[in-house]
Parts: sequence; structure tokens; C-alpha cells
Amino acid sequence: MGPTTRFAPSPTGDLHLGGAWTALASWVWARRAGGAMALRVEDLDPPRVVRGAEARVLEDLAWLGLDWGGKPVRQSERGAFYEQAVAALGRAGLIYPCDCSRAEIARVASAPHAGEEVVYPGTCRDRDRSRGMRRTASLRVRVPDEVVAFDDGIQGTIEQNLAREVGDFVVRRGDGAFAYQLAVVLDDVEMRVTDVIRGADLLSSTARQIWLARALGADPPRYAHVPLVVAPDGSRLEKRSLAPTVRALREAGVAPERVVGELALGLGLADTNAPVTPRELAAACAGREIAWRGEPWRVPLSLVLR
Ligand code: GLU
Repeated sequence: MGPTTRFAPSPTGDLHLGGAWTALASWVWARRAGGAMALRVEDLDPPRVVRGAEARVLEDLAWLGLDWGGKPVRQSERGAFYEQAVAALGRAGLIYPCDCSRAEIARVASAPHAGEEVVYPGTCRDRDRSRGMRRTASLRVRVPDEVVAFDDGIQGTIEQNLAREVGDFVVRRGDGAFAYQLAVVLDDVEMRVTDVIRGADLLSSTARQIWLARALGADPPRYAHVPLVVAPDGSRLEKRSLAPTVRALREAGVAPERVVGELALGLGLADTNAPVTPRELAAACAGREIAWRGEPWRVPLSLVLR
């Protein structure tokens, strides 16, 4: 049995090139070694879910030549499973309720540096519970003052001190929604994912996810974070940026092999941007080391629609 990877889109709109990029990397990683990619729809946050987006994303993946093992897993259908894990963490003394507002946390926490998230200052950690809560409390997990280190398949060795750089993080929000940070860990373990290939924007979430998996008595998967995709001018990929969605390319008559060819060159899966199918790429990458590219990938002008 080869590796099991997964692609985990949030159904908030059409598949953009950044999604196609991680999906292709994940698919080839598995298929070049006789494994398969699983698919998980990350629809935990109802207000952000766009109706019909899931079906469109799956169609666009299939159009690119990507498939997945088994049925897509939907996070919105797994509440009972997540609840059990929260209860287990509670029994282990690792969970506490917190009714701090965002503004209160920002006031107490040391000012975050550019691009870093606010570290929860621990206000409710050792609070006297008999005082009651001012609003519906979220649940936080107590992280140790401990460095978690891991070898990322693309980014090298990464270390993070959980207490200082992450802080006690939310596993269930005040409105009852389970947090991404909890669900992703439980799902990756339950779906027997061996290798998580995803975007470098999630690199700072990985240490806590590894720790949480271990706290739940599970073996975390291996991780590899592919570089980000940016607009042709190097700016952030945004909805209104020049970079089109996969569907827009398809509707403009661009062949899927051309899209895959450009992505493959950008990722380092191929030496040229020649049109190629994912299947051909997996065969070409079988049994050899992949020279993953480390820098952000600028969407090439050949994929910009005029
Ligand atoms: N659903 C997340 C996203 O679309 C991906 C999370 C993950 O791969 O761990 O950005």
C-alpha cells in the first residue's frame, strides 16, 4: 500500500489555481508511489459555505484529470465524532471554557508581529469556574510550554514553541462550531492519511496539529507544505486578481493538460511546461526524488485570460 494523501477544499467558491496546485501536488505524491488521494470537504463554517460550490470543485478536479479514493468526506456530517474527541480531551484535563472577546484578547496579548497570529494570553486558563461565564464560552485546549519539531518534506525542519508561539487554541467555538484545528487532526487520523501535502499558509498550524494528534493518542501524518501561488505581479492571489479560476480557463477553451503542464513546471514535478496529464506526471515521477520548488509560484501570463 502506497501513501494516502488528501485534498481538503473549503467549499467557498470555485476552484482557483492555488487549489489546483495543492491538489495536483497531493495527487502526484500519492500516485507516484502507488497510493491514492482522499477528498475531504471542509464545510464546518456554514456562513462561508457557498451552495453548489462543492459539486463545482469536484467537477473541476475531475476535468483536470484528478480523482480520489472513496467517497468525499464532509466535515459538516461528523459533529458527533468531533464531540467525542472534545470529551476525551476534557477527561484528560486538557480543555477549559473561555469567554474572552476578540478585543479583550488583543488588548492583553503582546502586539503580534506582522503576519503572526495573536497568542492567547491564557486569561481563562486558571480562572475560578464558579464565577460563571459572561457569554457562551468557546473551548480551548491547554498547550504545554514545549517545542514541537518536525521534518517538513519540502520546507525542512520546523520548530515551534506551543505556549509561546501558538497559545491555548480554540477547539470549539462559542456558537458550537468545531474548529478547523481540531477537525483536521481527527479527520487526517481517522481517514488514515499518511502524508499531508498542502499550502505553506498552513505551516504555522502544523506543530499544534502534531501535538494534538499525539495528545489524542494517535500518530500524526508526515507533512509537506508546497509554496504559495501568487498573482503574475507577485501580489496575493485574490478573487479579483488576474489569476482565473480553473472553471474560467475551461470555459475559455484552455485544455486541462496545458493547465497541469504549467502547474507541474511551477511545482518542480516537470522540467518544462509541456501539456501533460496528471497520470503521465505520476508515471514520470515514480521512483525518483522530486526537486520541489521552494519559492512562491507566480501564475504565468499564459494562464491569464484577457
Ligand atoms: N480547508 C483548508 C483550505 O482550503 C485546507 C486545510 C488543510 O489542508 O489542512 O485552505
